[in-house]
Amino acid sequence: MKLLEEKVLKEGIAINENILKVDGFINHQVDPALMKAIGEDFASHFEGKGITKVVTIESSGIAPALMTASAMQVPLLILKKSPSKVLNENMYQTIVTSYTKGTSYELTLAGHLINEHDHVLIIDDFLANGEAATGAIRLIRKAHATVAGIGILIEKSFQPGRAKLEEQGFFIYSQVRVKKLGKDLIELA
Ligand code: 5GP
Repeated sequence: MKLLEEKVLKEGIAINENILKVDGFINHQVDPALMKAIGEDFASHFEGKGITKVVTIESSGIAPALMTASAMQVPLLILKKSPSKVLNENMYQTIVTSYTKGTSYELTLAGHLINEHDHVLIIDDFLANGEAATGAIRLIRKAHATVAGIGILIEKSFQPGRAKLEEQGFFIYSQVRVKKLGKDLIELA
């Protein structure tokens, strides 16, 4: 996606060979016009796939996922990283390792919000090792729903996430693919 590619090249900051900072337009400050365009791009890409819900992981995935759900006119389901005190019955849970923090968190989904008739599109900001997406898939499967596809804003193609997910038969569409990161270097695929 050209608009996001331009933004990444202009405003993204490679803090080392593995991590790209996008705090100015995705992760900390959010660019609403860019999010709207991102949502429309995902919606047109996954059109006709029978998607009933968009699913994302809090918190960086929420803005683009909401715009995608809005463009597709379906609800957005946010997977929680900490269990809710009020929603403790009929919960699906799984442990995920955070790429950026190196710690683990428990991903939670309330069972009454999803069922076997749901065909969901997973949206996330980054794809690195595929841990977050794999955790989301585990929860969706526990709920007997199906995964229609995975939409990623920025894929780091030099990391193994895509291969791991494709091996399991999932379809991934990434709006930007980063081939290489380094000091003052962002190289797109
Ligand atoms: P994965 O689970 O695929 O290993 O990593 C994806 C998750 O880690 C994303 O949800 C994102 O929050 C975070 N992440 C991975 N790589 C980066 C990165 O280079 N920059 C930022 N800002 N977040 C990242």
